[in-house]
Amino acid sequence: MSGPDAGGSGLVAGGPEPYGDGTRVVRAGLPEPEPGQPFLPGPVLASIFALDPDTGPVPGRDSYGRPDSPTRRLLEAAIGELEGGECLTFATGMAAISTLLFTVLRPGDTVVLPSDGYYLTRAFAQQELAPRGVTIRLAPTAGPYPSFAGVRLVLLESPSNPGLEVCDIAQVAAAAHEHGTLVAVDNTTATPLGQTPLALGADVVVASGTKALTGHSDLLLGYVAARDPQLVERMRSWRTGTGGIPGNVDAWLAHRSLATLDLRLARQSANAAAVAALLAGHPAVRSVRWPGLPTDPSTVVAARQMRRLPGVVTFELAGRAAVAEFFRASRLVTAATSFGGLHTTGDRRAQWGDDVPEGLVRLSCGIETTADLVADIARALDAAVRVPES
Ligand SMILES: *Cc1c(COP(=O)(O)O)cnc(C)c1O
Repeated sequence: MSGPDAGGSGLVAGGPEPYGDGTRVVRAGLPEPEPGQPFLPGPVLASIFALDPDTGPVPGRDSYGRPDSPTRRLLEAAIGELEGGECLTFATGMAAISTLLFTVLRPGDTVVLPSDGYYLTRAFAQQELAPRGVTIRLAPTAGPYPSFAGVRLVLLESPSNPGLEVCDIAQVAAAAHEHGTLVAVDNTTATPLGQTPLALGADVVVASGTKALTGHSDLLLGYVAARDPQLVERMRSWRTGTGGIPGNVDAWLAHRSLATLDLRLARQSANAAAVAALLAGHPAVRSVRWPGLPTDPSTVVAARQMRRLPGVVTFELAGRAAVAEFFRASRLVTAATSFGGLHTTGDRRAQWGDDVPEGLVRLSCGIETTADLVADIARALDAAVRVPES
């Protein structure tokens, strides 16, 4: 995928395009290399910056850490490049999502949210937006979607967490735009290397950077990305007013982690392919969802709109006792929530109140050696199949 002159002129921003993913992430958001300077400048740890005593604060010059952070701006440049829009980062994914909901929705508005997406988005909207006069409609990720007449905002989540359902983003965006409905996509599971919703017709991307984007299970992060400068400015103003910014050390760690995103996703996705095939043929498993399985209902749409498949596989065992035995028998799958990290983890989602079967596990494949992971999970499934459910 390298441009014709990629070898000669150096891999600088504005150079020959398009570059491959590995090239894009390793350079994303970095300043031009300067002799004697690090590639990624260290975190600027400042809550205040010196003011010019004559002029006082001047637009474009850093003065206070809530609106201003050089470290955060570099990370935002990087994610913005990858998503194809202007990016604002937040302390967590929920800070980003709540910013979108609160800046766009007014009393009397209607919002369509996924019925099967991240549970807290739905719960938060029901708790905080409904009492403020916002009507909430739920639609399953795979559809059917209601008429968008009178709908202010539709939030899609594809692939959805935890069910890994996929929706045709371009198709839903076109239907929504006919009615002037704003289209947002939660891009957490795919990451911008997996799909770029803005290029598929969405107006806004929201995401948790806590998961695969940063991938080391060591920080929380959220972001929004959009092309409409007015929408970005409203969200920036909300962020400045509510204060949900990421810290500078976390922003720097996130930026450092981005450089390996292509490598991490490649191994996670390869591991997920091998594990999904194993799960699909094992008698302990009642059902398995992964958009890359040829038998999966989402495979056609996923192949069309996604550039790579996630490292997350969702499957169902007989029940709670079988899942407990699965974890006991495995050495490489650690019970933990969240996903997208270096280490393989599994999460029984019903324990968090998700409206899913007791035996449903969201398995997040890490970057371990594929054969080791497959052998370990096969052993754990063999143990789980022998457990009687009470
Ligand atoms: C985790 C997650 C969020 C929330 O992100 P936090 O960083 O935990 O606040 C939102 N959407 C999806 C799809 C998620 O998986």
